[in-house]
Amino acid sequence: MLPLLHDLELSGARVLVRADLNVPVRDGVVGDDARIRAALPTLRELIERDATIVVCSHLGRPKGVVDETLRMTPVAERLAELLGVPVRYRPCDGPGDEAQAAFVHEAPAGSVTLLENTRFDPGETKNDPELAARLARYADAYVNDAFGAAHRAHASTEGVARLLPSCAGRLMERELEVLGRLVEAPSRPFLVILGGAKVSDKIGVIENLIGTVDELFIGGAMAYTFLEARGGSVGDSLVEDEKLEVARDLAARAEAAGTTLRLPIDSVCAREVREGTETAVHPSDAIPDGWMGLDAGPEAIAAWMAALPAARTVLWNGPLGVFEVPPFDRGTRAIAEAVAASDAVTVVGGGDSVAALNAMGLADRIDHVSTGGGASLEFLEGKVLPGVAALGTVRPAS
Ligand code: ADP
Ligand code: MG
Repeated sequence: MLPLLHDLELSGARVLVRADLNVPVRDGVVGDDARIRAALPTLRELIERDATIVVCSHLGRPKGVVDETLRMTPVAERLAELLGVPVRYRPCDGPGDEAQAAFVHEAPAGSVTLLENTRFDPGETKNDPELAARLARYADAYVNDAFGAAHRAHASTEGVARLLPSCAGRLMERELEVLGRLVEAPSRPFLVILGGAKVSDKIGVIENLIGTVDELFIGGAMAYTFLEARGGSVGDSLVEDEKLEVARDLAARAEAAGTTLRLPIDSVCAREVREGTETAVHPSDAIPDGWMGLDAGPEAIAAWMAALPAARTVLWNGPLGVFEVPPFDRGTRAIAEAVAASDAVTVVGGGDSVAALNAMGLADRIDHVSTGGGASLEFLEGKVLPGVAALGTVRPAS
């Protein structure tokens, strides 16, 4: 059983919290702060229990060296604003360096301290035991709330969890509960909409969900690999040639398992990906040479929208077209609206799909917007996330 916040005696304890505060920062200012907000319930609960809190997270990809543009300064400021309590932070060379250790050592009881970017230390991504041990010295217990980083075995997500009594935070708990339900016991009919760039990114998810899913809609660029595998002509659309065999195999297995696979009937096509370029709608399996399928066509959208109301559970991952470039955003927009309007349990995951939802202001109308792109895919593939597997391996002293 995964240990949760209420399973550990944390009152008055020093607690190290790994959160996913990896927000976009531009010119020293936090952009979308959704990930910081998502970390608040766990921190508030610990504040209520008079814990002395040490929070850590990575920010961007500094590759094991100090990057002045990726210091946690703006994150500390926004976290303090949202939490409504001061957040101690001192820029230093890494989360385990001596200046950092001294600063943590001075933390008053009941305070909140934010460590420097975990990825300033080359030991973080190598899951270096030395860094894990340094982090472990900061606290009596460890809480992992960073679902978005749980698929990585890093020092702050995995190594340290094997050194302290530990548990999952509230965000981690909710992500695992909602996504776990999809894999194990979804209310049916269960409809899955997968889009995005590459079949190779989502093969594992399709394999794992075949048989569990009633209807699987495949859109986005990956649809054209499936269409070509079926013998269709897809013109110059993106096709992963080395995945044609896999696509054929997945389609056959879906049929055998009773999962209806639906590909876009038609596509909005163009000769180039550019705003204002000439477009034409073609059947997706009869796209002329020189033309690429860049979005789901009107018939495809209508067919998918018609199927949505019957679903009791809907999972959407991956845009259905090149949504960054209008007019190829229409399919993605239509599906986003339909999912938001659905009475089903709705779950959306994937960095780009979530960005599209946020841009449309629809995130509030989705039951669960996953904070982990890669982590949610790996979980849906049926993989064990290393950051989760390590929790509860150290028994609290009693
Ligand atoms: P997510 O981050 O939601 O998991 P992906 O990263 O898999 O989604 O895919 C998003 C990308 O797929 C977007 O950049 C989008 O432009 C691209 N894409 C979607 N449909 C097409 C298409 N038909 N042709 C080319 N690129 C596409
Ligand atoms: Mg993406």
